[in-house]
Amino acid sequence: MQVKPLLLIIAFLVQFGFSFSQSMHNKKVNTSGAEAYFKIASALEKGDEENNVSWQLLFQTSPYQMMIAGNALDTIVLKSDMQRVYAAASLEATSSYSGKVSYHQAYKDNQKQLESYISLLHNLNVVDSVKTLLYPFLPMRLQIEELFPTLFYLNYGSGEATGFGGIVISDLLHSYKIDRYKLGLLAAHEAFHSIVSIAFQQRLKTDIDYNAPSFKLLYFLQNVSEEGIADLIDKPLLLQKNSPLYTELRQLTADEEVISVSLIKKMDSVLTLANRSEQILLQYNDFTALTNAFGKNGGHVPGRFMGSVIQKAGLLQTHIHTVEDPVSFLLTYNAAVKKTGSKYPAFSKTSVKFLQRLRTKYWQE
Ligand SMILES: [Zn+2]
Repeated sequence: MQVKPLLLIIAFLVQFGFSFSQSMHNKKVNTSGAEAYFKIASALEKGDEENNVSWQLLFQTSPYQMMIAGNALDTIVLKSDMQRVYAAASLEATSSYSGKVSYHQAYKDNQKQLESYISLLHNLNVVDSVKTLLYPFLPMRLQIEELFPTLFYLNYGSGEATGFGGIVISDLLHSYKIDRYKLGLLAAHEAFHSIVSIAFQQRLKTDIDYNAPSFKLLYFLQNVSEEGIADLIDKPLLLQKNSPLYTELRQLTADEEVISVSLIKKMDSVLTLANRSEQILLQYNDFTALTNAFGKNGGHVPGRFMGSVIQKAGLLQTHIHTVEDPVSFLLTYNAAVKKTGSKYPAFSKTSVKFLQRLRTKYWQE
């Protein structure tokens, strides 16, 4: 999914403040936020006054503490939204709800199923299902228990999920819909991000300038590369006709090849120019500028297209060997285009030279 500034703050907090390592939590599945949510919902439904409801039950769970600390959640708004939907005294028509309020209503409508799903996540081993789906896309050295993230499930406010720095946060309802189709599929995509983003950080040299335009470019390419492989985990299955996201994803991926080809050509021009002078990169001064210029949907486009070109050429294992290296992703894509003699654009020799310079500058060999 898309990298959001708020989530970057949370990632920072997770890395430096909070820790969800195994020493603190023996279990890799954490549904505390979702369980507390339904306890609060039941209290409100029983008619408890808002002031008498023990909101701390919810706010003291680890995922909510994380979101509060990262300013990703306004507790006053959450209280008021839940009150509107769950309070017995509320006479409001559900048709007047919008955005997050209607999302609480969707939780209310599916409360029984979601509560059973919470038990199921613990009873059926969701972690094993995630590993089965995920590990073919990771080298052996990253298939270790310590790197496997803690999977948090809660009402995220919309049908989304994210994974970074040792954790995965999935919206419970969204995950429920996908898990009924294939258990662990949503979390597997996000767990890939969680594991590979850490591996990327660990491979960087220690004395680099994170504000340098060329580093920002490398970071953007890392997002393209991560989505390119992560989407090979879930999208082929989610694009099957019986998938719960079939219609949505068909729309999202329409014209993807044409758009990807044009974005790759654009990126190739800039990489070629950058080899002469990095001045050209100054106009893309942040992640958003780079995403708008060379990507769509946070890097899913052209990443997904490039990933599938690599896979179809039988070169996936070549890249997976150094999966956290975005330069490897682009070079393997190039090799795939050449191997299959396809009509798709390859990066020029000059662009490849610049990519190798980027690697020398930022990568610990
Ligand atoms: Zn993703």
